[in-house]
Formats: sequence, structure tokens, C-alpha cells
Amino acid sequence: MKSVDTIIIGGGPAGLSAGIYAMRSRLNTVLLEKYMPGGQMVITDFVENYPGFPQGVGGPDLGLAMEAQARGLGLEILSADVTSVDFTAEQKIVVTPEGEFHAPTVILATGATPRRIGVPGEDRLTGKGVSYCATCDGAFFRDKEIAVVGGGNTAVQDSVFLTRFADKVTIIHRRDALRATKILQERAFNNPKIEIAWNSVVTEITGEHKVQTLTLKNVQDQTEKVIPVDGIFVLIGTDPNTGFLRWMVALDPAGYIITDEDMQTNIPGVYAAGDCRRKSLRQMVTAAADGAIAAVAAEHYIEALGDR
Ligand code: NAP
Repeated sequence: MKSVDTIIIGGGPAGLSAGIYAMRSRLNTVLLEKYMPGGQMVITDFVENYPGFPQGVGGPDLGLAMEAQARGLGLEILSADVTSVDFTAEQKIVVTPEGEFHAPTVILATGATPRRIGVPGEDRLTGKGVSYCATCDGAFFRDKEIAVVGGGNTAVQDSVFLTRFADKVTIIHRRDALRATKILQERAFNNPKIEIAWNSVVTEITGEHKVQTLTLKNVQDQTEKVIPVDGIFVLIGTDPNTGFLRWMVALDPAGYIITDEDMQTNIPGVYAAGDCRRKSLRQMVTAAADGAIAAVAAEHYIEALGDR
């Protein structure tokens, strides 16, 4: 068992920013990360909207820089998968296979996981042409024909990125208008390698050892057609990684953690930051800002405990 002032769960921009602020506040802090620090930055090819980088910056580079900054301030980052938490007492308990961590304050920065479309063939062919990460797998599709499902910023931005490799990218979108921001839409509309299948959903992915065809259904006239593709990128948003909380903090119906403007959950001393939190804009810059606010709130909470 290890006792600290603050436990940060998750090492994306929210968790690392919280770590930087917590270390500058001289809080004895540990950051627990399941995989590797960086979170979704690690699977983001290029970041164009994080202030301070007028030419843009690689997502993994930005992640490494944030990690280096946090470690440089003395943040302890441990590889640990949190299995459960107990926030019922003043000393909160975070349980991992590597042991328990106790602290008066916890910052939940667990991010979100890519959604699946849930059609036949998707699970069986994941890793065999079905992908959830353009940055990770795009280069496997050099000179191939591929599809992207989704109409948000990720789907549209990544479709443009995928044209660096693929001969043709078909965006499959369930409506007749994209959700993505206008500047990204313009890039897609002006890219000769991108086609858009409007009002369409994928109903089946087939292929014996790797993806070969998709069945598309037009949701307006219910007609179906089969298109040959070498790969399909499912980029339809994310779900929050909050299952392990098991009713310990208040969540909204979609599973996002509800906080006040100081990032505090319904449990005093427990904060949430970044994509796992209910909010209107999930971006690296807002995740980093959440982390900073949460760490400062945790510092104030610990100070108030000392005054009691
Ligand atoms: P998103 O904004 O939630 O968009 C998800 C897209 O997938 C929507 O077009 C949605 O369709 C579609 N979709 C959802 N469920 C579906 C299903 N079961 N079947 C078919 N289509 C489905 O998710 P995101 O694009 O991953 O973006 C997540 C967050 O990151 C957003 O806040 C976004 O702004 C941010 N982001 C920003 C940038 C940037 O600023 N450059 C880049 C990437 C991501 P509908 O439109 O019909 O709902």
C-alpha cells in the first residue's frame, strides 16, 4: 500500500497536465497509467490546434514532451491498471494488481475508447483490415481502396490523412451532412481521392483472412450494395473509460463523469479531467486545462483538510 496526497488515474493530456500542476504545488503525487503515457495523443498523427505550435506538432511528440515535463518536475508515473476504487472514506482507495494506493484526493483522467459499429465481421476482422486508428494503421493501405465510417472531426481529418497512402477513401456517413468543422469538410470535398457515401451505414464486413467487402445500406431508400475495400477505419467517436468507477461517482447517462467548474465530482476530493468528463468540447487543450484546474482544486482541498 502506498499513501500520497494525490492519485492521478490516466496519463493523457489531462492527467499529465494535472501532474505538472500537482508537482508545482508540491503535492506528493502518483500517476497511474494502464498502457503508456500520452493517451489518445499517441494515436494522433498531427495536431494543428494546440496553441503554441503554428506549424502543428505530431501527437506522439506532444505526448512525449508533456510526459518529459511532468517527469522533470518529479512526477512518479507507474504502469498500473486500476480495477476498482473506494471513495467512501476521507482516504480514497485505488486498487490495482500492483497494490493499493491511498490518498485524500484523486483525479480521474481516464479518457475514452473508440466506439465499434457492432456489425457482423467487425470483431473477427479487427486487425485484419478493420482498424480504429488511422495513424497506427494507415501506412498498411498504400495504393489500396479503403472506407472510413463517421462524419465527425476524427473521420474527416483522418480520411484526408489516409489519402497519403490509399488510392481511394470512401467516407460512409449515416446522414446527409458532416458533423466535422467546416475547414476539415472543405479539405475532404476538395480532395479528389475522397468520395462520400451519404445516408449510408455498414451492415456487414466480409473477408476470409482480411477485409474484402462491405455491405452498405442506404438509410433513406433501404437499398443495399456491396463495395470492395481492403480496409475500413471505424472513427465514430468514443465512450468514456469509467466502467471501473462502479457508481462511486455520479455519471451522466452516457457514462461521462459529472463535475462542477472546479472539476470536482459529487465526492469531495475526487476530480475528473479530460475526455472522461461531461463537457461540450473534447480537445487536447481543454483536457490540459481541466487537468490544471483539477490539480489546483486538489491542492486547495488538501490545504483545507490541514486547517480543520
Ligand atoms: P464525434 O464528434 O462524436 O463524431 C462521431 C461521428 O460518428 C458523427 O458524425 C456520428 O454521426 C458518427 N457516428 C456515431 N455513432 C455512429 C454509429 N453507430 N454508426 C455510424 N456513425 C456513427 O467523434 P469524433 O469525430 O471522434 O470527435 C471526438 C471529439 O474530438 C470531438 O469533440 C471532436 O471535435 C474532437 N476532435 C477534434 C479534432 C480537431 O479539432 N481537428 C480532430 C479530431 C477530433 P452523426 O453526425 O450523425 O451523429
